[in-house]
Amino acid sequence: MKLAELLENNISKYGEYPFIFYQNQQFTNVETKKYADQVANGLRKLGVENGDRVVICMPNNPEVIFSYQGITRSGAVIVPIMFTLHPKEIQYIIKNCLAKVVIASAYTAENMKKAIDELEVKPVLVVADLPGSDEMVNLYDLMSVNSTANEENAHENDTAVILYTSGTTGNPKGVLLTHKNLYTNAFNSVAHNETDRGVTIGVLPLAHVYGLTISNTCYITGSSVVVFSRFDPQEIFKAIETYKVRSFSAVPTMIHAMVGSPQADQYDTSSLEWIGSGSAPLPIVLLNGFRQRFGAKVLEGYGLSEAAPVVTAHNKKIAIKPGSVGIPIPGVQIKIIDNEGSEVPVGVVGELLVSGDNVTPGYYQNKEETNRVIKDGWLHTGDLARVDEDGYLFIVDRKKDLVIRGGFNIYPRDIEELLNAHASISEAAVIGIPDERMGEEIVACVVKNPEADPTEEELLQYCQDHLARNKTPKKIVFMEGLPRNGVGKILKTRLRETAAGIST
Ligand code: ATP
Repeated sequence: MKLAELLENNISKYGEYPFIFYQNQQFTNVETKKYADQVANGLRKLGVENGDRVVICMPNNPEVIFSYQGITRSGAVIVPIMFTLHPKEIQYIIKNCLAKVVIASAYTAENMKKAIDELEVKPVLVVADLPGSDEMVNLYDLMSVNSTANEENAHENDTAVILYTSGTTGNPKGVLLTHKNLYTNAFNSVAHNETDRGVTIGVLPLAHVYGLTISNTCYITGSSVVVFSRFDPQEIFKAIETYKVRSFSAVPTMIHAMVGSPQADQYDTSSLEWIGSGSAPLPIVLLNGFRQRFGAKVLEGYGLSEAAPVVTAHNKKIAIKPGSVGIPIPGVQIKIIDNEGSEVPVGVVGELLVSGDNVTPGYYQNKEETNRVIKDGWLHTGDLARVDEDGYLFIVDRKKDLVIRGGFNIYPRDIEELLNAHASISEAAVIGIPDERMGEEIVACVVKNPEADPTEEELLQYCQDHLARNKTPKKIVFMEGLPRNGVGKILKTRLRETAAGIST
């Protein structure tokens, strides 16, 4: 099976049902397919052939969905880029994957032009919502070209998508995801939670692996998706009320904003049964806070780009264990190993490995990194985790975020959970910074709640009262906000850079 067939199969059952709601527009599944075929034809007219790379970089809108299906229908490979990237970062990706076409919107067109200008081999620039010119082709003009036969002949093991990682540790790497990686993960995610037809919300960036899969799972369930180009809690509450939304996927920063939003009470959100959370640790206070405020469960899961993406998740039927990311979804195997590569007993922390049809064949033109990360069919996630006696997975931390203080492993997450539970703290992130005596020292970066004004001494005392001595931060740094990426993940590398000048 290929990604195009997900929509094909959907049409036979749900053709006339709405697929996309966006602002005051609405598109059925049949219309979505019609526009997708037009994009495919247009791309063919531009000379796009099977296996060519087409970059797409814009905030969420219906054209992103038409283009994803259109690119895959033309036989080309989808290369999504977050619309927040700097032109230099965009340029690196376009050059690395030798994109033939880039699809942008008015919002990203300038950055795209800057990125393309200096390139020797320039891709064609297509823009969704600007008139065509010498420099760019309008997407709808392209879509209106005469129909040509669709010659796509991809195989399910061919690359469907290349997702570039955020490149926190060097240049971004292009994760190859095959049609099979993506559709098996979509089917298994739906099966895991027995998700049925309904209206869901697409507010996660469609360019991120977590958002990218929303359309695939909706094709399978026949669901409709209310698409948002930016996250605004009030708009989300309004959509829940209007469309009687029962579930959708989010990230912890969104859940944080919803729980703290004064507008929540103005809307009827009683239809909401559960919200999925992934991509970063969900503080337990938020898990409980969401339940109290909205009467809905938070089903936390875990995944990564290299696993297309879902590895484990809670579902509606199993008990929620706070702090856990649930159990493996069907078709996915996990194991935890120690530094010598042996599997560890239940409860012991080690590196998490993943295998299954969802696991990437590797990185685009990067054998060295592929061989480092995938060994004997197992993906080495770089995440430290443990499994409990019931098979629930707990992510302890990222290997690279571990603080080694005086030779002892300190997991920042333990300290973050404690700080997040403090009434005066809005959010917290803990990092290690180099220290002559201890190797590394613990620094807590903290954002205060608006009305609160805790002192450093107070917070250090609070940590001392609740944590082992060697886990107590040496310093508290108050910040206006924490640096985050497009899906709200805290950029600890950035924090470490900022904190580098701090003396402990
Ligand atoms: P890079 O690997 O370049 O830093 P990235 O972090 O953006 O990029 P993703 O594939 O988006 O890459 O993120 C996957 C990572 O997110 C996982 O390896 C894990 O560290 C973290 N993660 C995902 N879900 C959770 C969760 N529920 N709890 C804790 N961490 C999570």
